[in-house]
Amino acid sequence: MSSDPNCVFCKIIEGKIPSRKVYEDDELFGFHDIAPWAPVHFMLVPKRHIASMAQLTPDDAALMGRIMTLAPKLALEQGCRPYPEGGYRVLVNTGTEGGQEVHHLHVHVMGGPRPWLRG
Ligand code: AMP
Repeated sequence: MSSDPNCVFCKIIEGKIPSRKVYEDDELFGFHDIAPWAPVHFMLVPKRHIASMAQLTPDDAALMGRIMTLAPKLALEQGCRPYPEGGYRVLVNTGTEGGQEVHHLHVHVMGGPRPWLRG
């Protein structure tokens, strides 16, 4: 499993930086955002260090599919109300102009009663 010693999310995955974990398996890790934009705000990340969506290859299709199918289940577990009245936002910032601050691919999942602070 490739890891970047300078990456804050790699350190979270390895337990070197504390986090509020919502999910873990062999290839994925989920944890609450430290500065939430919404009442529910967690992120799902691959354990393998992938800098952004720009580095994905067709070999990563199953990995990303797992994240996208896991997100709805975890969103409900974390307190989002069901579709269609409830729901959640799934967001992947990519690169500087895409608003990406941490360069380890992460999928934001945000929800809960509106209005939110941002968005
Ligand atoms: P992005 O702007 O898409 O790169 O999002 C990075 C997110 O990581 C931001 O929403 C930060 O609040 C969050 N973040 C940064 N450091 C930590 C940390 N140590 N624990 C949890 N979330 C973090």
